[in-house]
Amino acid sequence: MLSISRLSHTYPNGTRALDDVTLEIPRGMFGLLGPNGAGKSSLMRCLATLQIPTAGEIRFDGLDVLAEPQRLRAQLGYLPQDFGVYPRVSAYDMLDHLAVLKGVAARGERKDTVESLLQQVNLWDVRKKAIAGFSGGMRQRFGIAQALIGNPKLIIVDEPTAGLDPEERNRFNNLLAEIGENVVVILSTHIVDDVTDLCSRMAILVGGRIVSSGAPQALIDQLQGKVWQRAIDKEQLAAYRERMAVIATRLRGGRPVIHVLAEQAPEAGFEPVEAGLEDVYFATLHGQRSNGKTQHIKLAA
Ligand code: ADP
Repeated sequence: MLSISRLSHTYPNGTRALDDVTLEIPRGMFGLLGPNGAGKSSLMRCLATLQIPTAGEIRFDGLDVLAEPQRLRAQLGYLPQDFGVYPRVSAYDMLDHLAVLKGVAARGERKDTVESLLQQVNLWDVRKKAIAGFSGGMRQRFGIAQALIGNPKLIIVDEPTAGLDPEERNRFNNLLAEIGENVVVILSTHIVDDVTDLCSRMAILVGGRIVSSGAPQALIDQLQGKVWQRAIDKEQLAAYRERMAVIATRLRGGRPVIHVLAEQAPEAGFEPVEAGLEDVYFATLHGQRSNGKTQHIKLAA
């Protein structure tokens, strides 16, 4: 269990990236969802002991992470957002090198580790090729291989699927899904489907604050019966936004379809629609943006 308590972080330039974050993260896959600039990477860096938060506490299975960061690092696997090392070195040699750095000293053990990880992330066939020539998806799979060296108990992956095409994303997520149930995996993302596909628990971070958390299905259930949709003309969108809580707009056959949050059908022409996690996310963002002004339905935290 990872316990984050009253964590805040303010950068030297005065940006308050994390504002009193408290979260209990059990074993299994945990999704941290939030728009760009929400503070996800700042939180991930604090948890990975790369950045000392201004205030607060982090405990992992009882260990005081801020007091003994090196003890956490021994159990940590981290795939940063900007894993920007793409050397002209083969995947095999690089992984071997990283295993040395992570303390897998014995040659035989290292060979076993490197070989089984390359198989696991499906890079065995290209193990002798330079990482510099890898596609985005292959690089991310290499990134998860290096994060898994040494059987970490806490795995942090920061926006791993950003920029991947759907097939690569699917492949990468399948890999994540295979990581054991007995470890804590934190996946930070702004892609709602990643959380839907993978996570048994989640939280939404906006402006450095946790604004919602729980099991995805429980959050969806709170919205059931309160989401309405209708197709509209493009030029009507601004007027609808004025009149009602439009939480999402998507195109269907080139025509906008809006989702509106309301206790009852807001007007004739709207039909009820089954809520999904995307509705939860957009309703939460909408509620934050409108500061309660037009928000009639409160999402429980
Ligand atoms: P996310 O990962 O959700 O996009 P970040 O944690 O990267 O969010 O950023 C949160 C806020 O902190 C943003 O306003 C960002 O501009 C700011 N920020 C991030 N890193 C730094 C830094 N090193 N110095 C100053 N401000 C930063």
